[in-house]
Amino acid sequence: MDVFSPEKRSEVMSKIGSKNTKPEILVRKVLHSLGMRFRLHRKDLAGTPDIVLPKYKTVVFVHGCFWHGHSCPKGQRPATNVEFWNSKIEKNIKNDSRVGRVLRSKGWHVFTIWECQTKDMDFLSKKLLRIKENG
Ligand SMILES: [Zn+2]
Repeated sequence: MDVFSPEKRSEVMSKIGSKNTKPEILVRKVLHSLGMRFRLHRKDLAGTPDIVLPKYKTVVFVHGCFWHGHSCPKGQRPATNVEFWNSKIEKNIKNDSRVGRVLRSKGWHVFTIWECQTKDMDFLSKKLLRIKENG
């Protein structure tokens, strides 16, 4: 059985590659409230990071749990079309780690926020405050 209903599954799928997703907006809101300045979607950087904090030499990727293979309930793979989903998700995971390597080699700190972590504002604030340790 698929963990999602067909409706939910198509909702999850429609978020492929989309920018300005809800979790991303929540992360920006928290950064804003913490007084941390950022830029969005810098195309000149590998992987076009969702959020860039030049002052802290940090990039933030806000990852959807399903598409980027998070080890949480939302990241559970569908039980149907297993090979299809595995190959898609594995490709994303490989790409994420390649992008991370490229950015780190250029001196950037790479921060990943998972969609499921944006549900808890306290947790999110604490996590994002750790970026300041890089600055
Ligand atoms: Zn997750």
